[in-house]
Amino acid sequence: MFFPLSLLSQSVQDVRSDQRIYEIINDVSAERIEKDITTLAGFGTRHTLSDTVSQTRGIGAARRWIKAEFDAISKECGGCLEVFYQKNFIKEGTGRRITKDVWVVNVVAIQRGSKYPDRYVVMSGDIDSRVSDANDYTSDSPGANDNATGMAGAIEAARVLSKYKFENSIIYTGLSGEEQGLFGGQGLAQYAKDKEWNLIGVINNDMIGNIKGVDGVINNREFRIFSEPVPPTETERQRRARRFYGGEVDGISRQLARYVHRMTKTFMPEMDPRMVYRLDRFGRGGHHRPFNDLGFAGIRIMEAHENYTQQHQDIRVENGIAYGDVLEHVDFDYAKKLTAVNAICLASLAWAPPAPEEVSIGGIVEPSVRLKWSAVEGAVGYRVYWRDTTSPTWDNSLFVSGETSVILEGIVLDNYFFGVSAVSANGHESPVVFPNKIFR
Ligand SMILES: [Zn+2]
Repeated sequence: MFFPLSLLSQSVQDVRSDQRIYEIINDVSAERIEKDITTLAGFGTRHTLSDTVSQTRGIGAARRWIKAEFDAISKECGGCLEVFYQKNFIKEGTGRRITKDVWVVNVVAIQRGSKYPDRYVVMSGDIDSRVSDANDYTSDSPGANDNATGMAGAIEAARVLSKYKFENSIIYTGLSGEEQGLFGGQGLAQYAKDKEWNLIGVINNDMIGNIKGVDGVINNREFRIFSEPVPPTETERQRRARRFYGGEVDGISRQLARYVHRMTKTFMPEMDPRMVYRLDRFGRGGHHRPFNDLGFAGIRIMEAHENYTQQHQDIRVENGIAYGDVLEHVDFDYAKKLTAVNAICLASLAWAPPAPEEVSIGGIVEPSVRLKWSAVEGAVGYRVYWRDTTSPTWDNSLFVSGETSVILEGIVLDNYFFGVSAVSANGHESPVVFPNKIFR
């Protein structure tokens, strides 16, 4: 391969030398996460239809406490978080799990970016919990793993990242109504669309604290990243184009999943991220989906080995098995690690320039591939990626500074997939953009 010298001038820092990323990993505290999960489990039940008046029990008390935590974090950083409730009224009978009229209330905290205040990367967890009967809103339902872990992770990420300034905005959010039919996510996704938010992506955390699987496997390194292949909002034209130009495994959510995979491998090599090429677990749901439904990138981060006797269960002992989603089964160090995975991805995405909007590819019946892309203001360069068509990860790359086009000499278009990201001066990258245009 031959590259003009100008393309090789590295005016960009290696992202691995950004000490802030290591600081962020070290700052995430298993003790604080344990304390927060304990507090959340202590509200008795956080069922979406539960009591909203009590100060000690029910989802009302829980969401007021979450808001107060975000407010306290904001106070520490001189008011760096905009904290508010985002709520939607859901009428009785909207699905079988809404047995009475209810306000589904999310708690949202925005850390406003300095350069791109209207571009957002989102970390979400859930407020609500449930037991065996999805509509039982009075029984004890600690939801310690499902999903106080994701909620506590979002609060802890806010604590750690609020010490830094970012170019893009970061949103930390607790969503409600998940167990009743993904209502909180639907509400916030619609809110984002109505406000014309430019969402870089949603990293949804749902159950990030269990290391002992029902299959007997114990593993505190492995975790799953679920992502759907292509957006459900794609047009018929895009679907048809994919048959000829590829992209079956290269939708925007999949690129976000690869981003999390790469960041973990780079900065937390002791962890074992496992991309799962599907929207979610077989036939089951999570709060990233309503964002996907509206065309936003969104993924689910989750433990690798679930224990079904400890989720959605009445607390009881039956045939010697202790059922219930109780504190004793949560591994706080593991929840800390997955929170750190989130935090470094939020930080890197929030320090990165926007992705190139248009990436064009050419080189049909030619010995070389040609790529060109729209310039990104604030990017010091671009990283051009390619990989074998069967590889899940972007294995090969070339940094291009200054230019907005490149010729990859001797690389045949047919045999690889390609993509381009924008890079900041300290090496932080946007998600990779799969070519969305063809030129001859
Ligand atoms: Zn659940």
